[in-house]
Amino acid sequence: MRCPFCQSLNTHVKDSRPAEDNAVIRRRRVCGDCGGRFTTFERVQLRELTVVKRDGKRQAFDRDKLSRSVRIAARKRPLADEQLERLVSGIVRQLESTGETDVQSDQIGLLVMDALKGLDDVAYVRFASVYKDFREARDFEEFVEELANSSGVTAKRVDQAE
Ligand SMILES: [Zn+2]
Repeated sequence: MRCPFCQSLNTHVKDSRPAEDNAVIRRRRVCGDCGGRFTTFERVQLRELTVVKRDGKRQAFDRDKLSRSVRIAARKRPLADEQLERLVSGIVRQLESTGETDVQSDQIGLLVMDALKGLDDVAYVRFASVYKDFREARDFEEFVEELANSSGVTAKRVDQAE
């Protein structure tokens, strides 16, 4: 963190503690060059994320859509609703914590694959194979949308991955 007094980057955290009923972390900082002291606050920001598709089109991030595509990949697998919701929440948190409001649709696909990999091999292979299959040729967001709409053709494609 840059010193607000002398603009030096040589600053250090002296003390961190929660504030506002743990919604905030308050940090006391000191500048190693001018000795200036200042305070910063760290708080959760639930971002309005925007998905940037491969063709550059932008669209508001839709958690439900993500959730539906994960559920389709996990169809008939021994995974509880709660596990899947935790997985989706984890992905959303990761996206929020990049510090960017724009996320690439590819990035979401990779995070889903990563998360499913640790949870269920079959669901992972289903998702990964369709993801990779469509990777070059198609817009992944559109594909996820189709998955969510669950047309018969797409469902067959998903099942072939088993
Ligand atoms: Zn300073």
